[in-house]
Formats: sequence, structure tokens, C-alpha cells
Amino acid sequence: MSDSFLSEGASALDQADPLAPLRAEFLFPASEGEADVYFVGNSLGLQPRRTAEDLSRVLEQWQHSAVHGHFEGSPAWMDLPQLVSDAMSPLVGAGPDEVVVMNTLTVNLHLMMSTFYQPTQSRYKILIEEHAFPSDHQAVTSHLTLRGQTAEKALVTVRPEPGSFLISTERILESIEQHRDSLAMILLPGVQYYTGQVFDMSRITSKAREYEIPIGLDLAHAVGNIPLQLHSWEVDFACWCTYKYLNSGPGALGGCFIHSRHSANRDLPRLAGWWGHERETRFEMKPDFVPSPNAQGWQLSNPPILALAPILSSLHLFAQAGGIERLREKSLRLTSYLRSLLLHKLGDQVRVLTPESSEQAGCQLSLEIHGQKSGKDVFDRLSHHSVHADWREPSVIRAAPVPIYNSFGDIQRFVETLAQCMRTPA
Ligand SMILES: *Cc1c(COP(=O)(O)O)cnc(C)c1O
Repeated sequence: MSDSFLSEGASALDQADPLAPLRAEFLFPASEGEADVYFVGNSLGLQPRRTAEDLSRVLEQWQHSAVHGHFEGSPAWMDLPQLVSDAMSPLVGAGPDEVVVMNTLTVNLHLMMSTFYQPTQSRYKILIEEHAFPSDHQAVTSHLTLRGQTAEKALVTVRPEPGSFLISTERILESIEQHRDSLAMILLPGVQYYTGQVFDMSRITSKAREYEIPIGLDLAHAVGNIPLQLHSWEVDFACWCTYKYLNSGPGALGGCFIHSRHSANRDLPRLAGWWGHERETRFEMKPDFVPSPNAQGWQLSNPPILALAPILSSLHLFAQAGGIERLREKSLRLTSYLRSLLLHKLGDQVRVLTPESSEQAGCQLSLEIHGQKSGKDVFDRLSHHSVHADWREPSVIRAAPVPIYNSFGDIQRFVETLAQCMRTPA
């Protein structure tokens, strides 16, 4: 990054930022009347101002219309899930029929594996990354056990390069090649939660498709962060949560993508429930199961309206921003500003684990502290200065400037406070 970018200064960069007004649409934690620096949108996104109003409209609908709220009011509760899928699908590069918002991330992983993990005598292995998010690892191994496999025999884990936390695309492709005749499924993240590394989802999916190995993506750290093209990449399925970059509140519902070449196939095995039954005949109340010929065919229960409403509130703001590509443009600038300032002011004491190339990084930078104080000490001090980042064992501070509400000014304050926290005596 050029020095001129640095010397421009944060306030000039904020003034020139066409997306800066969106910041006012969010509620920030504050100390002594001033908004805190919040770089934890990768863990829990901030609350949009409009969420409370949208939620209270549902409560009023419940109060005044009671059961008729399913069909009356705007939107009628029957129509809300489709509105959410319509608004969500551009964020993942999918058609509205390929996206359903339901349950939570890990539950959806299980539902998807009940369909896409179909082990045979010769093909029974699942490939994941060695440092997968614990829940993903646990979900996968529990499916192996359910199908009479063992992790020792059937779990293939791709390791980072020696001495690094990163995994090159080549390493993943080689591992797929090596196990191509025995793999029954692949599950990888879009963006790695610890390092912030973006995987080459397109190339990896092509390789999996070459050998007809179903591939699923965990997009918890990718959705709302980087543009995705799930349909054209031909990914089989994907799952994500909406409480991180999608700002839909703690424990909010998860999203799920099933490619149209599968979602229209009513013969695919799955765990079933009445809300997955096709809409037209659902209320005939017959025991046989005719799945909806789209992603909705994996729903189990009638949708939680109070949980769906905040998702739509947040997705409105993504539309208002002009979509994920526009946000990504700002994000690239924000994160390279953070990287340059860190290098300039603390280059000898802070190591950035996240890859530098824009193809391999989203908004988050994972920082290792190599000063006199331990990383954990520095992190604790940051928190006392109303600067919110997060700590991930064993050794990183994750900092995620989020383009929809963070500013260049936030970055300047973050780096200044970090420098101060590394300096002050223990
Ligand atoms: C955040 C996250 C989860 C969380 O799963 P929940 O079921 O929503 O609690 C799972 N996997 C990854 C990779 C995550 O980053």
C-alpha cells in the first residue's frame, strides 16, 4: 500500500467514502458518550436501528391478528421466508430457490450431511481441514459414527503448510487427488475462522466435481464478508450463520444453500418434516412426504417468524449499500489501511497471519503479538480501552473492520490504542 494512502489520513478517507452514511444505521456500544471501536462483527454483528421496529411490528401483528397473521398484514407470515430467501440469495450467488433460512448452522450441517454423505464400501471418507471449527469437526465425526465408520479410518484432515497456519489450494487439491477413490464428501470453510484465509472455493469445487465427490462449504466467516458464486461454482451445499457479518442478532437462524441440480430432486434422501412438504398439498395433512422441489424441501418445522424478522431488517441494509460487491470494494480499502498502519507503526511487533493477496483475505486480520507483553495481555488491555477485538486460542487477536458500519477513523483509533497497550508498563 502506498504511503500516500497513509498520509491521506482517516478523516479524509471517511469523507470520501460513499458508504460512510450506513454507519448511522447501526447501534454501537459506547463509553462516555463516544462509540467504541468495534472490530468483532466476525463474531456478533452490531444491531441495526431498524431491527427493533421491525420486530415490534411482528408483535403487533400477533397482538391484533393472532392466528390470521399467517395470511394477513405485510408481510403475512406465510410470505416472510420467501422474502428472506430472495434477499439472501444475491449474497451467496444463488437463485432464491436454492436458499433457505432455517435452524442454526450446525443443525443445518447435520441436515445436509444426512443427504450428501452417503458412504459405500469403497467411498466412505470425509475430507476436512485439520483445524476446522470444533463444531464442524464434531458434526462430521458424529456422522461417521452414525454410519458405522470411525474417524481413524474415514476422516481425512488437510494440514497447514509446515510452520504456518495457512493451507495452500495446491495442498487441498493434492489431498483430494490422493483420496479421490475413497472420498464420499468434502467439507471446507469459505474463510478460515482463525487466520481469515479465503479458500479458492471455485478451484476446489471443480476438483471435487471432477471426481463426483459432493462438496459442502461452511460460510460462517464468508457470507456478508466476500462475494460468493455458489451456483456457478457448482457447490453441492453450503451452510452459514446470520449473527456474524449478517447482523441478525445472537443465536440468529442459519442459512442453507442446496444447488438446484439437487434441490429439485425429490428422490434425495433426507430427514423430513411437514414444512419440507410441497406447499400446494401440505395442508392435505397426508402422511406421505412430497418434498418441495427446491431448498425449502429440507425445512422441518414451521418457521420462527420472530427470528426471521431481524434477518430481513439487516438484509435491507445490504441492499441499501448497493450489494456485496460495493461493500467488498470498501472492505479491501479498509483492511489494507489497517494492514499498512500496523506495518508502519508496529511492524516489528505485530505479525499478520492473514494472507496479503486480496484473493486470499476478507475483512479480518489475525494478529500475533511479538512484543514484550503476551498477546493475551495486550488483548485484555485493548478491552479496557473500549476497543473490541477478539482473542482466539492459541495465539491470535482477530480484528475485523466491517465495511457496512466501520470507518477509517476506527482503524486509526484501533492502531493507536494497540500501540499504547503494547507500550504501557505491566
Ligand atoms: C461461528 C461458526 C459456527 C457456529 O455454529 P452455530 O451452530 O451457529 O453455533 C460453526 N462453524 C464455523 C466455521 C463458525 O465460524
